[in-house]
Formats: sequence, C-alpha cells, structure tokens
Amino acid sequence: MRRAVFLDRDGVLNEPVVRDGRPHPPGTAGDLVVYAGAPDALRLLREHGFALIVVTNQPDVARGTTTLGRVQAINARLRGALPLDDVLVCPHDDPDGCECRKPKPGLLQQGARLHCIDLARSYLVGDRWRDIEAGKAAGCTTIFIDRGYAERAPSTPAARVASIGEAAGWIIAHSRSTMHALDAASDVVALDGLKVKLFADGADLDGIEKLAADPRIAGFTTNPTLMRKAGISDYESFARRALEIVGDRPISFEVFADEAREMVRQARKLASWGDNVYVKIPVTDTTARPTGDVVRELTADGVKLNVTALMTEAQVGTVLAALTGTPGAYVSVFAGRVADTGRDPVPMMRRNATLCAAVPNVELIWASPRELLNVFQAHAAGVHIITATHDILAKLELVGKDLDEYSLDTVKMFHRDASAAGYTL
Ligand SMILES: [Mg+2]
Repeated sequence: MRRAVFLDRDGVLNEPVVRDGRPHPPGTAGDLVVYAGAPDALRLLREHGFALIVVTNQPDVARGTTTLGRVQAINARLRGALPLDDVLVCPHDDPDGCECRKPKPGLLQQGARLHCIDLARSYLVGDRWRDIEAGKAAGCTTIFIDRGYAERAPSTPAARVASIGEAAGWIIAHSRSTMHALDAASDVVALDGLKVKLFADGADLDGIEKLAADPRIAGFTTNPTLMRKAGISDYESFARRALEIVGDRPISFEVFADEAREMVRQARKLASWGDNVYVKIPVTDTTARPTGDVVRELTADGVKLNVTALMTEAQVGTVLAALTGTPGAYVSVFAGRVADTGRDPVPMMRRNATLCAAVPNVELIWASPRELLNVFQAHAAGVHIITATHDILAKLELVGKDLDEYSLDTVKMFHRDASAAGYTL
C-alpha cells in the first residue's frame, strides 16, 4: 500500500478569495491562482513516493451559488498545473446529509480505497479546522497551514506551517524520522505494546499448560500433524483436557474428514465441546476442491471457524465471502510457508489484514511463523493474531535483550561447548 498526502484545495494549493477574514473558492477557472511554491512542493512529495490526492468541500454547489461544472473546470486547470493523482469533491452542504463533507473522513477513505493508500502512514494538509479534523478522523498525520483567518483554529495538528512548501519539507522530514524510529525500535519494542495477539500452536499438553499460565498468550491452536507428533491417539480426550487447561481462551481443533458431509458432522461435534472452540476447516479438500459450501453452512449454523492452510489473496477473498454473518472466525494464512517459497509475505499479509478487517467478527492469523521477528512483522502489518509454536514463543524472553550481552553469551557458549567436548588442536 502507498502513502499519500491528502491536500485541501483552496488556501493550500491555490489562493482563496478572502472576504471578512474568511476564505472562499475562486469563482471560475480563470480566477484560479496557484501558489508559486506549490508545483515544486508537490514534485518533491511525489519523488518521495507519496500519492497526491486533493480532498475538497465545495458546498456552494449545493447552495446553488456555483455549479459542479465550474468546480470541475477549476479542478481541471489545477490538475494541469500540478502533478495530482486525483481530485475528490464533496458538493454537499448539509453536515448530516453525507459522509464526505469534512470534518468527516469520507473523502480520505474514498481516496484510500481508490488508490490503495495506507491512511496511518499518510498525511493531510489543510488551512481550516474541518480539514484537520477529517485528517485526524481518518488516522492521518495532520499539517495546518495557518493563514490567520477570522475563524476557529484547529485543535492540535501535528504541525503548523505557513505554506505548502513548508508543509512538504515537514512531511518529508517527519516520514524519514518515523522510518528511522521504526528501525531503531525494532529491537526494543515492548511486548505489551504489540497489537497482534499471541496464540500458542501445539499439541503437547504439558506445553499448553505452561503457556496457559502466561497471560500474554491470548489463545491456542492445534492441528493433526502436531497432535500426531505429540503422540496423541485419542482425539476427544486430548481436546477435552486441553479445554480444561485453557479456560475461556479460544482454542482451535481441526476436522480430519476429507468429504464435505463428514466435515460438517465432525465440525458440529467439535463445536459442541465449548463456546471457545474454533473449528479448523482446510481451505480445500485433498482434491483441491474449495470447502466454501462447508464454511457457508457451518457459518449459517453459528459455528465459529478457523479456515486454514490459505496461501493466496484470492483464497482469502473467497473464504471471506463464505464467512459473511459469522459469530467469530479466523482466516489462517500460512505466511511462513509462503516465505519458504522465497516470497516476502509481509505486503500480502498487510493487504489481507485490510480485507479481513472489512468483514465483521473475522480476524486474520499469521500462521506458520518461522522466527520471533515474524511477531513484530505481523504487528506492523496490522495482522490480528500470530500463532506460534512453543519453541518460537520461548524466545519471547529475548525481546529487547542487549546485543553486546547476547554476543558475549554466544562467545561463552562456543568456549564452553569446545571445552566440554575436550577438543585439542
Ligand atoms: Mg481550504
């Protein structure tokens, strides 16, 4: 997803007509005067990778004092003068009648959808309080160009500047320092600051018991492969014991049938064991036939599902359609297995998180992580849950460890092992 700078129009990119200390738009395209610093400022922002999207209230259209045609003619001339990606207009006047009139964030959200924009890493530049409030409501960092109008000033923008040129300089410096801060923070992020929930993936009851005592573990998952590895032969007695251990935290158990009717039967049985049971349904059967009908039927019955073994965005889209109306569901994308094929899973997981967040009661799981770093990548990508094996979770103790100290521990380990082995040269 791209970053954007959302730009108000009048008073930001072009001179407003000021009457009684308050700004008004130019009447016609012929009256448009673009600020001298605007072309260079926008070119610079574009060179830094920002999409440039104008978001402008034009209530005079609804009031009948101008026409949409005139507004569009002004916008066309503006687009001729400046490297803009889009110009989005709210022509309404009734503050309750639409979702797009700033201070509502509708125009920014529309721009984000159209241009695949990450609002949290984007900026808004405006010259009135409505702009700043809309930017904040959309989750952007806001910059106020203070032109000293005789009206209320916005509350606490991130920056106050005098021109679009200054705004561009501030945004570039701020986005750099934020990136540096993220880099610097990568070894000191506090675990309690993580938005991603930690789930423990495993089938060894001693391990589950130990992790259940850790309040950082928000849920549990199992699968037939792990169960077999742990030597489990009686599915039901294992599951019932695990349910006793985890209390009311969510736990996932997988069906092992390959035929749709039998999958539904097994799923209903697993679900009957507890309100906190999420039934794992593989995304296809072993002949690659999608299990969408099974997912749809169980969802309609109110069964909580964990649809598992997904690896592509297309699969996520199909599964989400089948999960409409779910009382609670997980979509498990095997990001670690995707990484095993040489593909970076982070951009895909970021997009999947946005897709899942749009469906009520659905959470995205980053499954099959390969290292502890994936917890922080999942957090940064907006993924809801990461489910990690017990050996990866054991490394939580290392988060934030001083690297000089860790280096010394490593040197000592080599020395100790060489001594213990009695090597001579
Ligand atoms: Mg303005």
